[in-house]
Amino acid sequence: MELESILLPGMDHKRPLVIAGPCSAETEEQVMETAKALASKGIKLFRAGIWKPRTKPGGFEGVGAKGLAWLKKVKKETGMYVSTEVATAKHVFEALKYGVDVLWIGARTTANPFAVQEIADALSGVDIPVLIKNPVNPDLELWIGAVERIYNAGIKKLGVIHRGFSSYDKKIYRNLPQWHIPIELRRRMPNLPIICDPSHIGGKRELIASLSQQAMDLNFDGLIVEAHCDPDNAWSDKEQQITPDILDYILNLLVIRDTNQTTENLNELRHQIDEIDNQLLELLAKRMRVSREIGQYKKEHNMAVLQTGRYDEILKDRVTMAEQMDMNGEFMKNVLESIHEESVRQQITVINQ
Ligand code: PEP
Ligand code: MN
Repeated sequence: MELESILLPGMDHKRPLVIAGPCSAETEEQVMETAKALASKGIKLFRAGIWKPRTKPGGFEGVGAKGLAWLKKVKKETGMYVSTEVATAKHVFEALKYGVDVLWIGARTTANPFAVQEIADALSGVDIPVLIKNPVNPDLELWIGAVERIYNAGIKKLGVIHRGFSSYDKKIYRNLPQWHIPIELRRRMPNLPIICDPSHIGGKRELIASLSQQAMDLNFDGLIVEAHCDPDNAWSDKEQQITPDILDYILNLLVIRDTNQTTENLNELRHQIDEIDNQLLELLAKRMRVSREIGQYKKEHNMAVLQTGRYDEILKDRVTMAEQMDMNGEFMKNVLESIHEESVRQQITVINQ
């Protein structure tokens, strides 16, 4: 792919490229107040959702085309560039009519090749940066397919946004980062800029700083962060929006390490970790097999499963060894206790057979 930079004139070349603004444009006042505060912090590219895809009907579905006039005002009064999400050909035409500088395709849209193709056709002959969010499901080929459709329409200023992947089992994150997927995308398309969306990955304010740092440590090119002048009263995604002041604080604390550690090296190291974990699992399984044989012996000789003397000896010996190998003794003790517990469980099963 012959790509061109997504940076517009006047935008900084150093990492991270920051896109910030509210999840949704709500009112002209909210848009202008947020935009002015962000511009005063040096943000060059404003974001605001005009059309909001909602999981269920009844939620705030965006103000629609009238919000585009507010974005035009943001450009005029702050000098920032503006961006919004498009999901249909009509959105593309309307956004372009109002001079929106950068368009992005949302996660739900990327998951639908018909919708992406419709947008691609609408973009034919247009020369603006387009950012493609990952599909909601962890399918790298589908993500790449969307990139190819937009590229084939003639868009050369292309980038992607990593916003995490939905999962039924929500624990820490709203959308699981599954970092290996954008890393593999980087390996396959090294020139394609990757922007991280810590707001939609984390789903909560507290996670934005650490996710942003992680993205920088993985050599991502930029961040798209939801910022709102009054996050607690936002009409959408209020738990994850932060004030322009907090955003500025988070950005100032970021450590940008520009090392030679390439994604390829990282991938290689991760493969080694996978390999070692496999070996660990195989060794553990082998240990359990031997342990079951001991269980069989204990059963035949009417011995108790738990032989405390032997266990204490193992603990002491292995903890000392671990310390000599630069590992924390307490850590090793915990590992051994867990292994021992499972071992005892397996022996009891054998004895009760
Ligand atoms: C958004 O950026 O506000 C949005 C709707 O994100 P996503 O498409 O990642 O869910
Ligand atoms: Mn949002």
